[in-house]
Amino acid sequence: MSRFIAAAAIRGARQIIGKADKMLKEALESPGPDAPVAFKDKREGPTAYYVPAIYGYTGHKIEKVGDLVWPLEHAKSLLPPVPGEHVWLPYLGETADAGVATLFAEEIIKSIEFAKSEQPEVHNGYQFNGPIDDTQMRSWGIQLVDGRMPGFAAVIGAARSNEAAVYILRELQSIGQLVFLSSTSNGRSMVDQLLEEGVELGYDTFTVPFGTDTESTVYAAGFASRAAFSFGGVTPGDFRRMLLYNKFRCFAFALCLGPMDDLKWATGAGAITYGFPALCDTLVPQILPTGITKYEHVVSVPWEDIPGNDREKAKRLVEKCVEVRGIKIVIAKVPIPVAYGPAFEGEVVRKADLHVEFGAKRGPAVELLSMKGIDEVEDGKFEVIGPDIDQIGGAERTFLAIKVDIAGRKMQKDFEPVLERQIHHLCNGAEGLQHQGQRDITWIRISKKAYESGLRLKHIGDILHANFHNQFGAIVDKVQVTIYTEEEPVLKLLDEAREIYGERDVRIAGLTDDAVDVFYSCTLCQSFAPTHVCVINPERTGLCGAYSWLDCRAAYEISPTGPNQPVPKRRLIDTVKGEWEGVNQFVYDNSQRKTERFTIYSLMDAPMTTCGCCECNMVILPEANGIMVVSRDDFGETPCGMKFTTLMSSIGGGQQTPGMMGHGKRFILSDKFISAEGGFKRMVWLSKNLKEEFATELQELCEKIGEPDLMDKIADGTICTAIEELLPFLEEKGHPALTMPPMIE
Ligand code: SF4
Ligand code: ZN
Repeated sequence: MSRFIAAAAIRGARQIIGKADKMLKEALESPGPDAPVAFKDKREGPTAYYVPAIYGYTGHKIEKVGDLVWPLEHAKSLLPPVPGEHVWLPYLGETADAGVATLFAEEIIKSIEFAKSEQPEVHNGYQFNGPIDDTQMRSWGIQLVDGRMPGFAAVIGAARSNEAAVYILRELQSIGQLVFLSSTSNGRSMVDQLLEEGVELGYDTFTVPFGTDTESTVYAAGFASRAAFSFGGVTPGDFRRMLLYNKFRCFAFALCLGPMDDLKWATGAGAITYGFPALCDTLVPQILPTGITKYEHVVSVPWEDIPGNDREKAKRLVEKCVEVRGIKIVIAKVPIPVAYGPAFEGEVVRKADLHVEFGAKRGPAVELLSMKGIDEVEDGKFEVIGPDIDQIGGAERTFLAIKVDIAGRKMQKDFEPVLERQIHHLCNGAEGLQHQGQRDITWIRISKKAYESGLRLKHIGDILHANFHNQFGAIVDKVQVTIYTEEEPVLKLLDEAREIYGERDVRIAGLTDDAVDVFYSCTLCQSFAPTHVCVINPERTGLCGAYSWLDCRAAYEISPTGPNQPVPKRRLIDTVKGEWEGVNQFVYDNSQRKTERFTIYSLMDAPMTTCGCCECNMVILPEANGIMVVSRDDFGETPCGMKFTTLMSSIGGGQQTPGMMGHGKRFILSDKFISAEGGFKRMVWLSKNLKEEFATELQELCEKIGEPDLMDKIADGTICTAIEELLPFLEEKGHPALTMPPMIE
């Protein structure tokens, strides 16, 4: 705390202790030492825990006026003897500042007012609330504990204008913060401002007007103390635990609007003791207005310096509060015009019901999630650049890029793919929105009904924003979503994204299955395919291609009870097929006991199951003694007699089909690619686009396995799509598969 603030706070504390002293002397005369003291709200609702801030700090119970004598003497003893200096107090065991003394004096003043029946205050004909009664405290306390409500904002003073007051309140409400109002600035109270604008105040709107005096701010400290007793199991008098509880469990802050005076500084110092930082919308001497990246006690964000109109200023101001306090925003309901929930995750939007489609045959559709600096992301900003689905409904050719920018103090680069992969199941929760695939093979359908209900692309922003905050609040602080629907920017992002996917994929190269003791599971797709399990090892990604072993490890770190669990290998059963006891056990336990065995390296014996997301399908071609691989973006016929989509309907859904298996496209480059059956030498037909995409890597691979000309011997859709044509081609080229041991014994 700066010396300026310390000096002001000490002056304020002396002043308020002086006032309390005078009032207490009078009160001991009349109504007298035996007059009862009890805090109540305006509807006469009682409050437990005596005079709560004093009780919390000292364990001292105040029931009558006479009980106030000791706390006042104690408050005096807390005051630093020389202005500007802190004092060592053996009682508190650490330096105390004027803030605690101020809170004591303020509660004493309130106690006397109650003893004289002068509370809650009536001002301009409006009756203020006074403290929060027990019934309300319990109902909010539970929400504070389970995280539905992050904390409270004690707003001290008044905004620059009535409009600004309304915007600030709305912003605070939108992040789920309780709002307490007290004090005035330049003779105005924020309560007056809000009432003049017709804003409803009270428990129902999570807005509690304590009073127009600065002293009534102490009800916020009292509320925090009572919550700590009731829900934190804190014993009154154990101030250390109470302060820790408040600092780490209750995300509260003081928002000081308008000019500060000594008493406001002194009260602010009390809030700081509770671990609640103070944000001022004025320039504070000796406090530099800066970009905030860490917890600060006092932060100055001068209203005049914030760019934009009142609405934008209010938004930025509250954003700063959120950053400073490290509030985790919880959005109770996903704010979109269609129903949202897990019930819709498996929903299929049929062609006949289609309003618009992105991806697959319609054109490129890509999604990319990137980590950004905390100041580079504006939380809750969603933009659609290009026409929305009002204009492109029914279009034959469409373009889509979903760009998600995430910032968070605990965010790591490694978490990007993990969060990106969530887009799939999060979007699917919306009724009438079907999302398949990921990365650059995203495929989205929106139904006519959803469109008619008002669903637009920008709602994807709402969906992702709400869910990333709610489900990944531990690492996500800010979410911004930009959606492009025009060819040029989409193709540009597609290029960027492919480069990034490539970098992510390369990170895992070099790590081998033998080097680790645990594999990871992925059961994310069980919402579609309830018995499907992916087991992900360093040399093979999940079949969607979006989750590598490293990603799963990161995902497990983010959410230890989530869909990516460590799968210890345990006893080795078969080296060649890659069968381990631990893997079998895990798969059995997590496939509703449908799949008993899982080999990691074999297509023919207990291959992995397939859900709907695979990038590629591999199918045995017995006539050729080899296999073919078709990719999702190859829409043509294949030599097994089925196109990709037809294949999917026969092997997807979590089935185990020896001889057929879904996999990620990079798996074809892995040393462990069906190594039990002889590996890449079995490849007799491969989708042309995969040949092109991995031309260099495939050539290197062929050289490594001693078949430098192999790529020329592998057919694709431009060479043939029927087995009758494939066989002569392989004969002519002298494909090695023809002379390998038979795949089927
Ligand atoms: Fe997870 Fe596998 Fe589904 Fe990918 S395909 S999300 S790895 S379960
Ligand atoms: Zn899947």
